[in-house]
Amino acid sequence: MKTLKLPTKLLCWLLIVALIPLGLFGYAGYLYTVKTLKKESMNSLVNIARSKALIIDEYFRDKEQVIFSLSHNPIIIDTIKQHNINFNEDKEYQLKHASIDKSLRQYLKHFTHYKKTLYDVFLINNKGDILFTMVKEEDYGTNLMTGPFKDTQLAKTFRKTLTLSATGLSPFEYYPPSNDMGAFIGAPIWDDGMLLGAICTQIDTKKIFELAADYKGLRETGETVLGALQGNIVEITAPLRHDPGSAFKKTIPIGSQEAMLIQLASQAFEGAGSSVDYRGIDIFAVWSYLHYPGWGMVVKIDTDEVFAPAQKYKQWMIYIGIITVLCVLLISIYVSGSISDPVVKLTDAVNKISEGDLFTRIDVNSGDEIGQLAKSFNHMMGHLQRSQEALQKRTDELAKSNLELDDFAYIASHDLKEPLRGIYNFASFLIEDYEDKLDDDGKNKLFTLKKLSQRLERLINDLLYYSRVERIHEAFQDINLDEVLDEALDTLNIRIEDHGIDVRRKDILPTVFCDKSRILDVFINLITNAMKYNDKDEKWIEIGVDKDKSRHVDVIYFKDNGIGIREKYLESIFKIFKRIHGRDKYGGGTGAGLTIVKKIVEYHGGTIWAESSFGHGTTFRFTLKGEGDENQAI
Ligand code: ADP
Repeated sequence: MKTLKLPTKLLCWLLIVALIPLGLFGYAGYLYTVKTLKKESMNSLVNIARSKALIIDEYFRDKEQVIFSLSHNPIIIDTIKQHNINFNEDKEYQLKHASIDKSLRQYLKHFTHYKKTLYDVFLINNKGDILFTMVKEEDYGTNLMTGPFKDTQLAKTFRKTLTLSATGLSPFEYYPPSNDMGAFIGAPIWDDGMLLGAICTQIDTKKIFELAADYKGLRETGETVLGALQGNIVEITAPLRHDPGSAFKKTIPIGSQEAMLIQLASQAFEGAGSSVDYRGIDIFAVWSYLHYPGWGMVVKIDTDEVFAPAQKYKQWMIYIGIITVLCVLLISIYVSGSISDPVVKLTDAVNKISEGDLFTRIDVNSGDEIGQLAKSFNHMMGHLQRSQEALQKRTDELAKSNLELDDFAYIASHDLKEPLRGIYNFASFLIEDYEDKLDDDGKNKLFTLKKLSQRLERLINDLLYYSRVERIHEAFQDINLDEVLDEALDTLNIRIEDHGIDVRRKDILPTVFCDKSRILDVFINLITNAMKYNDKDEKWIEIGVDKDKSRHVDVIYFKDNGIGIREKYLESIFKIFKRIHGRDKYGGGTGAGLTIVKKIVEYHGGTIWAESSFGHGTTFRFTLKGEGDENQAI
């Protein structure tokens, strides 16, 4: 993040600020929606399952009630009695039967529940003869003990009714006379303690199928699955919404992975939750056991449909997210246009200034703080430029006056040398020609005059050299200072031996872009001083290089164990003709050496300074290039 540019940073922050709350609220909203949808759909499934269970239960109980009340109906009892006596024995039966049949049919037709609830009604005598049916199919007149339909559910219900004297719903099964699925309920008919026979009713699948096909509240994918346990399998007893031909055809083995919930429900387990249905699709479901028909019921709906609004919500959140990102992009482009652009311009301008272009100005016209800053910046640059121009003018003037001063020193010293030589020569001639005519005092004065003129010549020579430091020089080039040091030591070889000084070369000196002959003068000067100003028996000078990491510059040093310099003189030794000893002490000197060294070092863009412990030694340190310059001593 630190290295990113301002507009990118701005964009990142805006995105973070906009998207994090959106993401958090969006996610929380999504979770809440999912939870609510799940709860609502479960509640709705429970209600639907309850009402369907109630309807089915009532439907079958209603049939039972009807048949029970018919079994006690005097008309029915009377009819079976008449039929029973005459059936197949009386020759006049056919005629009588027709009228009995007609009146009973008339009666049952008006029987309130008939149309709505009963497919057929059978009157069967205690021998198993079907004496009467409303629909009059093939079964009419046959015997349920011996006849062709003795294995049907009707025959079984009849036998069960006679033996157990109880009613009950048979399983749904294909009933050939009706060519359809049917289930039966029977009730015994008694008269004065005598079992006359049974009345049975046939129930078709229409109502159950209608109930299963009622998808109210179950939306597009929901349905009611009904199944009856038949031994080790569950038989589906109503068409499935997604497999309409499945009623009484589709079976599910108990213990299989298929439609687990209808397996549980038909085994009288109840519950609610999520699972996978017969299609292998995730569902929410409520499953229960219907006691009356003894079936399992699963009311279910696809999870995808339940969560569709949540998915839609998610989609909307994604759209909002995308729109937010686009808005943030636009805002950040706008904001970076108004904030970061000026800052970028400001940065560019500062960079240009650092490269030396003081004419740089920022082109920002807004009236806000940035605009103010730009104005102040331009104002400051105006000042800076004027100061720079003034400074440059002064520097030029100074350089000019320095040059003039150097010229003056050069001309003066050069011109002074000639009369000085004359004085020296005349003093020599006077001594030569008039030595015997002069008294001692006159002779001494002439000798002093000669000596002084020699010293003055040395001073003038030094001054001449000083004034020419920046005038006469070889071209600057990369010079190996180690080789320069070799040359200096060669030059001073005899004096080094005379002084008996030990030269210690601590490091290999670097290669520097410099004027070789000037640097040679610096080295000779510093080594000479180290020899001169040393009163120790074992004299040494150490030459090496330190790295000044804070200033990124190499510092060359000349360290000796000589007499040292008092702290108060550390600055003044660099002033021209300044000696801190008697004129002839320590081999004498003009006091210009260090001044010339300083001028050469500064001419190379460096600095020189001395450190000393009085009586123990002095260290001269210098650099040859300014701080951070590319071609500094390395
Ligand atoms: P000179 O040697 O001709 O007197 P310099 O400019 O070389 O002139 O030195 C100025 C003064 O600095 C010297 O007079 C001396 O007192 C002092 N000085 C220079 N180098 C050393 C040194 N290595 N140790 C002690 N003092 C020194």
